Amino acid sequence: MTVTEGETSEALTTLHRVFGYEAFRGEQEAIVEHVVAGGDAVVLMPTGGGKSLCYQIPALIRPGTGVVVSPLIALMQDQVDALRALGVRAGFVNSTQDFDERRVVEAEFLAGELDLLYLAPERLRLDSTLDLLSRGKISVFAIDEAHCVSQWGHDFRPDYLALSLLGERWPDVPRIALTATATDATHQEITQRLGMPRARHFVASFDRPNIQYRIVPKSDAKKQLLAFLREEHPGDAGIVYCLSRNSVEKTAEFLTHNGVEAVPYHAGLDAGTRAAHQSRFLREDGLVVVATIAFGMGIDKPDVRFVAHLDLPKSVEGYYQETGRAGRDGLPSTAWMAYGLNDVVQQRKLIQTGDGDEGFRRRAAGHLDAMLALCETASCRRGQLLAYFGQDPQAAGCGNCDTCLSPPETWDGTVAAQKLLSTVVRLQRERGQKFGAGQIIDILLGKRTARVIQFDHDQLSVFGIGEDLTEGEWRGVVRQLLAQGLLAVEGEYGTLVLTDASGSVLRREREVPLRKEPKRPAAARGGGSSSAGRPKAKAAVAELPEELLPAFEALRAWRAEQAREQGVPAYVIFHDATLREIVSVWPTSVDQLGTVGGVGEKKLATYGEGVLAVLRSLNGGAGDTPPEEARPEPEDAWPGPDTEPEPDDWI
Ligand code: ADP
Ligand code: ZN
Repeated sequence: MTVTEGETSEALTTLHRVFGYEAFRGEQEAIVEHVVAGGDAVVLMPTGGGKSLCYQIPALIRPGTGVVVSPLIALMQDQVDALRALGVRAGFVNSTQDFDERRVVEAEFLAGELDLLYLAPERLRLDSTLDLLSRGKISVFAIDEAHCVSQWGHDFRPDYLALSLLGERWPDVPRIALTATATDATHQEITQRLGMPRARHFVASFDRPNIQYRIVPKSDAKKQLLAFLREEHPGDAGIVYCLSRNSVEKTAEFLTHNGVEAVPYHAGLDAGTRAAHQSRFLREDGLVVVATIAFGMGIDKPDVRFVAHLDLPKSVEGYYQETGRAGRDGLPSTAWMAYGLNDVVQQRKLIQTGDGDEGFRRRAAGHLDAMLALCETASCRRGQLLAYFGQDPQAAGCGNCDTCLSPPETWDGTVAAQKLLSTVVRLQRERGQKFGAGQIIDILLGKRTARVIQFDHDQLSVFGIGEDLTEGEWRGVVRQLLAQGLLAVEGEYGTLVLTDASGSVLRREREVPLRKEPKRPAAARGGGSSSAGRPKAKAAVAELPEELLPAFEALRAWRAEQAREQGVPAYVIFHDATLREIVSVWPTSVDQLGTVGGVGEKKLATYGEGVLAVLRSLNGGAGDTPPEEARPEPEDAWPGPDTEPEPDDWI
């Protein structure tokens, strides 16, 4: 079906009027047109890419209600609140509601009074839900987080398998499946399992230029994290991921004890606590959530300034989804990870001793190898990520990852690798023993520890042959050999053993280039002295001229008050990006305020006068213009959320 001009402009008009945005981003327009015209679509777009508009606008334009299937029950209330704040008639039906609440929404749906209806996938298993849907008029089905249908992905939800029935039961209603998981395998599985053979496929660029990727060698992860937060993200909201519940609890305590407000989130906490912590994260400025991967999917808080990993994620897909939760507003953000030898040993061990058949193990090992390759790369991290997702990296590097900012040195580790591998061989051949990395490094360093003496390891010919490197450097060697498959771990104790490839090193048939262990992790923003002394929300205001900061803070305070009164997260009122543009433009009329990105019809009507009053009060009521020195030159004005920031501005 072709799209007429009238429909195109209706999409654009809706974008201006309801959402207050100037233009579509990337593929949004093509997707919206396609779905408005009744076509099916499979959309792959990174987190923060703007997936929601792709189904919200068709739902507003096509007759009937758009039904959104989403696993994120805990977020539905917020999603609906945010839409209502835009004047969109939205509702949800899920298990958190009582009978009466549900009946009200159902009645609205049947009366054609809803633009959007959010549903959890498990509800579509109920005949009563299917019955309800068939009695109303549906404009479009949106299947959000569509990778949940993929069994081998990282987030499988059995209820998603039933969603293929939507196409069978409602063949005339267009369906749009959306995900931020982009590997080819997942992509194929989504298309096949949801039964969407005729869908058009839209694959956006997965680059997130405003996120700075950094991976540092782990020494004392909690302390490293604290230093990172203090130096670069004081007062900022962020997420810290750990693998175990125990380390989640400990890290949250540690941060709180050290003056960084942090709350834990994991599946072992009761539902009430989890909901309360999530809600605080969404509503408060600058709270840190320490979580297992149970937290974060679908969180659309735009101003998450950092995502930190204290443990190695299990796959690049998972890592990219998690880090993608930073900086949805397009402002500078950091993806930071501490990674060390134990991570590799632990995860290899887990795969070997864990449940699952051979195929599952192979796949898990493949995921881990890709993750390790990312950690150990000496070239651009972003390039490696994009290549992993089958997209073209920039040849020259991105200029906004640790390896681009301070390229790691490499050294010829062939001899070191030979020393280490021969130690492993000798223990096994001469003594029939296998040991973990700690003992082997002690032998290389010639340390007479109790354990070395106990096993007579100081009698080995390799004892002390590695004194030219430090312990940290040896750990780096072991880690990198494990990552390169030149060494393996075995069994419950994670003992080191040779691999098929080790022989070629021992026989001097191949060289082993290694990354040097950085003495100090690369710093991101060179200290950023201009905003020192302002602990709150440092990164978000980094590019605003100093004179405009009081106005920005005043608007934030006004926004916090509105949010509190209405019981919604602050970003539901206006995003930081919108407040920044407001102070840069300094509108003096409601009409002028309406030109600011993110200020649509409804928000203008609701908040327009309030915002103008705040600006007027800042001039001491003297007039409608900002103080002369406060008006930025045009080139100082913030470029808008989808313009790539000039790296020099903030590094
Ligand atoms: P996703 O679901 O893909 O992670 P969202 O739909 O939540 O992303 O959009 C991310 C952010 O970008 C939101 O804050 C949204 O309001 C904003 N956004 C989306 N499309 C546009 C656009 N065309 N112009 C300006 N901002 C946009
Ligand atoms: Zn780079």
